[in-house]
Amino acid sequence: MSDIIHLLPDSVANQIAAGEVVQRPASVVKELLENAIDAGATDITIKIVDAGRTLIQITDNGKGMSETDVRMAFERHATSKIRSAEDIFSITSMGFRGEALASIAAVAHVEVKTRRPEDDCGTRLVIKASEVESQEPVSCAVGTSFVVKNLFYNIPARRKFLKSNQTEQKMIFNEIYQVALAHCNVAFTIYTDENLFAKYPVAHLKQRIGTLFGRKLETQLLPIEGQTSIVAIHGFVGTPEMTKKYSYLQYLFVNNRFFRQKSFQAAIMRAYQNLISPKDYPPFFVFFEINPAHIDVNIHPTKTEIKFVEEYNIAQLLEASVKHTLGKNNVVPSLDFSDEVNYSDLFAITTGNNVKLPALDINPHYNPFESVRSTAPSSVAGGKPSFPMTHKQSTTNWEQLFDAAPRQAEIPVQQTFLSALNSADSAPLQESGMCMQIQKKYILTQGKTGLMLIDIKRAHSRILYEKFLAQLQSTKQLSQRTIVPIRMETSAHEMSVLQEILPQLAELGFEIEHFGNTTFIIHGMPADVDTAQAEQIIHQCIAEYEEGKSLNARERIALALAQSAALYRNPTMQNDEMQIFIAQLFQCSEHNLSADGKRAVVLLDYAELFKKFNS
Ligand code: ADP
Ligand code: MG
Repeated sequence: MSDIIHLLPDSVANQIAAGEVVQRPASVVKELLENAIDAGATDITIKIVDAGRTLIQITDNGKGMSETDVRMAFERHATSKIRSAEDIFSITSMGFRGEALASIAAVAHVEVKTRRPEDDCGTRLVIKASEVESQEPVSCAVGTSFVVKNLFYNIPARRKFLKSNQTEQKMIFNEIYQVALAHCNVAFTIYTDENLFAKYPVAHLKQRIGTLFGRKLETQLLPIEGQTSIVAIHGFVGTPEMTKKYSYLQYLFVNNRFFRQKSFQAAIMRAYQNLISPKDYPPFFVFFEINPAHIDVNIHPTKTEIKFVEEYNIAQLLEASVKHTLGKNNVVPSLDFSDEVNYSDLFAITTGNNVKLPALDINPHYNPFESVRSTAPSSVAGGKPSFPMTHKQSTTNWEQLFDAAPRQAEIPVQQTFLSALNSADSAPLQESGMCMQIQKKYILTQGKTGLMLIDIKRAHSRILYEKFLAQLQSTKQLSQRTIVPIRMETSAHEMSVLQEILPQLAELGFEIEHFGNTTFIIHGMPADVDTAQAEQIIHQCIAEYEEGKSLNARERIALALAQSAALYRNPTMQNDEMQIFIAQLFQCSEHNLSADGKRAVVLLDYAELFKKFNS
């Protein structure tokens, strides 16, 4: 039998190697960006068509390549960045494995134009499936421009594994953010599908973070610093108010290279202990400067996992630095209920609508004291105190609890409380039971079997959530025009999310126009969303939407909007306003939970209460 082992042709070997380096369009973007940075570029333009499936073009003003180098660059293990194995331990460039271009050229159509400053004429090289198709002189600007077309055209299986355009584009942006954060001295211009998407001008780190993730975050960043003989740490962490439910705003860089490291993330989280819920993620942007001999970058082909020789000590230093900053800035848990707020500027007042008073079925003979007397003994006789309540108990109790608000009561949900009260044909509301506002945060009222404490913000989020969800299902639009159009600036990241949810927001009565780049114009808002808070609500809605990943799109929008539009600051409410509020809450199918499932109502069982005086 003849021998059976043979060497694979380069094109096949490259394609196999490409599997490690080029998994999706975002990997191409990452590699080309890193090459541009390594070439000393200060201005980089990125063009993405069809989420990178059809075209990825990266143009830089770096040092360019000679006619021979550009040809060599596509060979496997061809690099200008290291010469010997020891060099791996003194790496200061982003790349060094010499694999990226060979891998990309094995799975796509590649065209490169490049010119060094010292050359009069540049070179154009075209490669398909690792084969050079043409190489010729060309006149072009100093720097390099790579065009990568039809990624995975020769590996249909790979193409099939790609996710939706939206998801692929998000992954591309994650790569761009990582590079853009680590290189604030480089300007970026980004086009998607031929449209200018965003510009990130040269900036300080803090400004760059603001450009990418929003001005609000920018104002809530605290600087951190730490230094030992082996490492220097600098960067920013977010205040506890900025925590997120996912870790997408957590960035670590070592020598300006993005990396992931569980133990460092945990160290930062420890510094926030007792300041935030353990389920939340504070934003952080932390940079380590370290002698490259103390880390190993080469344990993963995409170089996002990095070994630190002094990992434990660095984690300790990191924790201490963050704690120090939080302490210095006096970051302690604070709940501010004391602001005097004018109720009228909390709600949009709908004018011109023929507003009817909610058709509350109120018992004019209702006497709260009677109900106490009549129900208390039976509860005691039942022998089962129901505080703290379970959800199950609460649902059954609630049904009878609130006489004044039968669930079937017809309340036109689009009305605001104030507009209902102010309307011309409204009769004064009958007193049915006293409500009391506690710390402007809770409503205390009495039901049949116990005292009820209602968290206003949470309850409001529930009312809005169910309303929005119903509206999204019926696609009924109820919009109030803003008096003057509101111009709103978003971060690049917010822009992509907002674009995604604009159609659903329109169904809810938001009239928002994309004005180009990261600017939007708000022309109208749903009737019961406060136009004075329009911008803030939309910014927050975007953030909330990002976090509700397990829900379907409608639920996510409704939840995001309910969370962001729920009473911004807690108003002083009149008794009748509180009653309408409670009535609206009790129309909801899950009236004891906030939109995001937190407890909105607490029942203090009378039996339990009375027992306290009997001991
Ligand atoms: P690596 O970055 O690991 O060296 P690559 O395959 O990414 O390997 O690139 C190979 C070589 O091509 C680089 O070492 C560099 O010399 C050259 N090169 C790649 N991109 C550029 C660019 N944008 N400008 C100048 N030179 C580049
Ligand atoms: Mg490279």
